[in-house]
Amino acid sequence: IVSIASLNKSYGSFHVLKDVDLEVGKGEVVVIIGASGSGKSTLIRCVNGLEMFQSGRLRVDGFDMPTQADREFGGEKKLADIRKGVGMVFQQFNLFPHMSAIDNVAIAPMRVRKKTPAEAKALGLRLLERVGLKEHAHKFPGQLSGGQQQRVAIARSLAMEPHIMLFDEPTSALDPEMVGEVLDVMRELAREGMTMMIVTHEMGFAREVADRVVYIDHGRILEIGTPDEIFDRPAHERTRTFLSRVL
Ligand code: ATP
Ligand code: MG
Repeated sequence: IVSIASLNKSYGSFHVLKDVDLEVGKGEVVVIIGASGSGKSTLIRCVNGLEMFQSGRLRVDGFDMPTQADREFGGEKKLADIRKGVGMVFQQFNLFPHMSAIDNVAIAPMRVRKKTPAEAKALGLRLLERVGLKEHAHKFPGQLSGGQQQRVAIARSLAMEPHIMLFDEPTSALDPEMVGEVLDVMRELAREGMTMMIVTHEMGFAREVADRVVYIDHGRILEIGTPDEIFDRPAHERTRTFLSRVL
């Protein structure tokens, strides 16, 4: 469902992603690990078009993402269509502070999918129930804990019925006691067959839910393998060094 080939991305003269190749199959869970600054966020932001790339191929859901040059020549409309199928959850939950949980979830289906308010609310309630927050539907973000806000953010992404979900350190901003409830929701999504690309430092979770783990080092994929391969028998010294620091 995601096919990345020789992807190169620079910020000005700074070469961030170097010849990245990665295939993600439907229903697959891929966890991306690597040191700070290695390019993990940049990679998943490219997958939903939040960042432009200069060369290589990036196919999402059967569509080629436009390169930077394409975008400068009017590829933006197509990009908007592709992005509807890609959900993204950030470290900072980015909820609308002046809207209740249910309105946060229902707004995009109304605006983008043209659902009626009643349809969008019904969908929103089902999704809030799915993340365990039905009772909190009418609270505002400021009245919810960090873990609850992040679960609302996940429900909001799911409301667009994405074919793939991207997570960029979804639990890094949370107090430790709230990490589990967010990981539980993600685990459930994985079990239901959602395709996911997840950047996380939660290595226990990665080992448990990942079909494959990708280790990025200075913008290059150094190793891809099953959790057992990467965590128990890493092929590269640099992977070993990284893991010895985080495990
Ligand atoms: P972290 O674990 O700290 O989140 P990361 O692996 O997600 O790190 P990225 O955020 O992808 O790393 O950043 C990769 C590199 O690109 C870093 O050196 C960063 O400083 C640089 N970078 C990121 N965003 C920009 C930007 N908008 N302009 C210039 N450089 C950037
Ligand atoms: Mg990052």
